[in-house]
Amino acid sequence: MNALNPRPSILSIEPYIGGESKIPGVNRIVKLSSNEGAFGPPPAAMEAYAALAKELHRYPDGNATALREAIGARFGLDPARIVCGNGSDELLAYLILAYGGEGTELIMSAHGFTMYDLTGRYAGCQVIKVPEKNLTADVDGILAAVGPRTRIVCLANPNNPTGTLLPNAEVRRLRAGLRGDILLVLDAAYAEYVTEPDFDPGQALVDASGNTVMTRTFSKIFGLGGARLGWAYMPKQVMDVVGRIRGPFNVNAPAQAAGIAALAEKGWLEKSVAHNTEWRGKLSAALEAAGIKVWPSHCNFFLADFGAPEKAKAADAYLRQRGLIVRAMGAYGLAQCLRITVGTAEECTLVAEALTAFMRDGG
Ligand code: PMP
Repeated sequence: MNALNPRPSILSIEPYIGGESKIPGVNRIVKLSSNEGAFGPPPAAMEAYAALAKELHRYPDGNATALREAIGARFGLDPARIVCGNGSDELLAYLILAYGGEGTELIMSAHGFTMYDLTGRYAGCQVIKVPEKNLTADVDGILAAVGPRTRIVCLANPNNPTGTLLPNAEVRRLRAGLRGDILLVLDAAYAEYVTEPDFDPGQALVDASGNTVMTRTFSKIFGLGGARLGWAYMPKQVMDVVGRIRGPFNVNAPAQAAGIAALAEKGWLEKSVAHNTEWRGKLSAALEAAGIKVWPSHCNFFLADFGAPEKAKAADAYLRQRGLIVRAMGAYGLAQCLRITVGTAEECTLVAEALTAFMRDGG
């Protein structure tokens, strides 16, 4: 007998497959499926990354000190309460493993970010998905779902894959309605794209509450998805816990250098946000003119809603034949939708033309 027995909750998880970038037989690929920054990495970040090649025999700074200082200076935060990770996924996993586990519940909204579900089950938590209102997290529903075993609530704001935003006052009302022994994780992976003037990605609430964490990433607007670099801003009590379980050299040296350089790249954020707002609008308008419903989004992607799963599937196949990769949403319970990342002007134009032709030809 040599059969091994992993924890049963692990076997309920479907492996996460992301980053598809090839279609057999198609030469030119336009990848708009992973919400990567339209402009790629900032040039200074690429140089900083490459410059570290001659130091690859050295372990990185295990505390990412210079990077945490650069993040702190840029966002007005205390570096002593910033933790960096191998993508924000790693930090989400630490939080869920530390505060969740067998016998506990993790609450998320029905179409919240999928990693909360996967990691929650990996940790042994019971994952509760709360229905949304108009694809937006429902604070009353979340509060009503809380039970004595609830230990963690995860909220992506704005949310992937829906693109929807919960106003500050609603996020504060959520925190105020949760018991003190429940960790609220505010995942602000797309915060930089939000143009609402008073939007708080979570910094103020982390400072005010003592049991809230904000996670961020360099994978989106800073174009460093391939480097795997995320960070979190935490109250002291959570820092103490995460510090005990974090891998000793979890962020590699070229990624640390690239992150510092990306933050210093002048005008990068402004240029990227302006492009995103302009082309999210233009592409959405083109699809709506073609007869496709578009869900309003605060992110660098949006949901195109074809009204029926078969139609979304046909549209996906039509795009793929033309080398255009977007994200099918069946695994998210939104099979009638495709999630489309806002790419360069040229990429957006190609998608708009292809989907207009698809709808015109009776798609
Ligand atoms: N949170 C959300 C809402 C995301 O969409 C993503 C990326 N898909 C992540 C976290 C993870 O990002 P990363 O691990 O690349 O920092």
